Amino acid sequence: KANRTFHPENTVINVGSQTIGGNKLAIIAGPCSVESREQIIGIAQDVKAAGAGFLRGGAFKPRSSPYSFQGMQAEGLELLKQAKQATGLPIVTEIMSISQLEQYHEDIDVIQIGARNMQNFDLLKAAGQLTKPILLKRGLSATIEELLMSAEYILAGGNENVILCERGIRTFETYTRNTLDLSAVLAIKKLSHLPVIVDPSHAAGLWWMVESLSKAAVAVGADGVIIEVHQDPSNAKCDGQQSIKPERFAALMNSLREIARID
Ligand code: PEP
Ligand code: MN
Repeated sequence: KANRTFHPENTVINVGSQTIGGNKLAIIAGPCSVESREQIIGIAQDVKAAGAGFLRGGAFKPRSSPYSFQGMQAEGLELLKQAKQATGLPIVTEIMSISQLEQYHEDIDVIQIGARNMQNFDLLKAAGQLTKPILLKRGLSATIEELLMSAEYILAGGNENVILCERGIRTFETYTRNTLDLSAVLAIKKLSHLPVIVDPSHAAGLWWMVESLSKAAVAVGADGVIIEVHQDPSNAKCDGQQSIKPERFAALMNSLREIARID
């Protein structure tokens, strides 16, 4: 079902008044994690003013250490809803389990399944029972074929609204957090009709690379980008070193406007 051979035309996913996979670039921006009402509403207003079409923000966080901040959970999701109410931006947020999916899917506009859950097949099957768009991130060490097969689990259940995300993979290189595999965008576009976006923030892990990698992603044909933005990166509860400030995000939007269509 993900295969372009049997579905030649590109899939375009509608999310409110926004689209992902159409001829307009999808721009998803916001903090790694929701931290407070002021924080998420402030960032939502800033990224909206700069031209973002979607608000990201983690409420349920898949942290490597159980002692790290785990996200504000249900309260974080409530704050995301308030930020959506304040700005009109649809919400993109991660869920980590079937029980969270069942409990919260109605509150979320685009449900993110993170890299660490890309092969959580029971979760993928449950996502296949919904009609909500699913943003499926590539696993840390997953091949393109494995990513497409994971998408297939969701599609097979009847949910055709799947967006794929290249977010960097593990290689021997340690300078960057992960290695951004831009050729994956080209490969997936050749093999599949599904929209593909790029996450330069988690790929590089370094804020100063985010603008250039975003431009590169758009230049190779990505349908959008998902970018971490924080007002005060050095005090962020999560992923501050890869988060850009709102002013820099606005500048990045201007450079993307030069190479792609954004209204
Ligand atoms: C995230 O988007 O905040 C995240 C945890 O991403 P990934 O699953 O790609 O690591
Ligand atoms: Mn993050």
